[in-house]
Amino acid sequence: PPLYKQRYQFIKDLVGKYKPKKVADLGCADCTLLWMLKSCSCIEVLAGLDICASVMKEKMHRLSPLPADYLKPSERSLTVTLHHGSVAQKDPCMLGFDLVTCIELIEHLEEPELKKFPEVVFGFMAPSIVVISTPNSEFNSLLPGVMLFRHPDHKFEWNQVQFQSWALETARHYGYSVEFTGVGHPPTGMENVGFCTQIGVFLRKYPQTSESTQSEKPTQAVYKTVFKAVY
Ligand code: SAM
Repeated sequence: PPLYKQRYQFIKDLVGKYKPKKVADLGCADCTLLWMLKSCSCIEVLAGLDICASVMKEKMHRLSPLPADYLKPSERSLTVTLHHGSVAQKDPCMLGFDLVTCIELIEHLEEPELKKFPEVVFGFMAPSIVVISTPNSEFNSLLPGVMLFRHPDHKFEWNQVQFQSWALETARHYGYSVEFTGVGHPPTGMENVGFCTQIGVFLRKYPQTSESTQSEKPTQAVYKTVFKAVY
């Protein structure tokens, strides 16, 4: 399967393993991952965030309940919400999530946004699990036609040491552990190149205390809600 499907499947498998109830996808683009996660029966709240409202709106109708959802209501409730805003800004609507996914997002952030990103995601949102994926630049020589970056909108592409040192420092600072994996295997004999997409899975080391959640984090709402569906 194509790489993007492998990344989405990786998240679906992780959801199957940890059974999060509240999942947020940051940089959700056309909401394909959210649409895939809708069928995971453990999930009660799904939220998407993107800085580009038009790409989010393209196919968001797929997130609306179908006639069958009304005819045969399921036991669980499901709320799907889409927000327009930046991961460089805190908004209280992103508090209380169990899993936050950032798939091919960080390489699109300008340096000032990337600097603010860990404080927003790990410091403020502080979910039990964060997944971050990004291209592995060491793999680029194996990809036909890649000159500097894989996509013109990429602000950077990191090699394994660059990603892992950023991830380890972020994890240490915010009290998470991190494990590295990826999708897209290198050819036999070239294993040291690493995965085509590198992935960090961050697990919060300590449970959230009640002070560290909602009540102690007074923040103004800055995101704009562009879609909401209740099943
Ligand atoms: N996660 C999706 C996937 O894996 O298919 C989309 C990845 S796409 C390469 C990167 C997305 O991040 C784009 O939709 C872009 O609009 C969004 N993005 C870029 N900067 C952002 C920011 N500061 N805050 C939120 N989203 C951002």
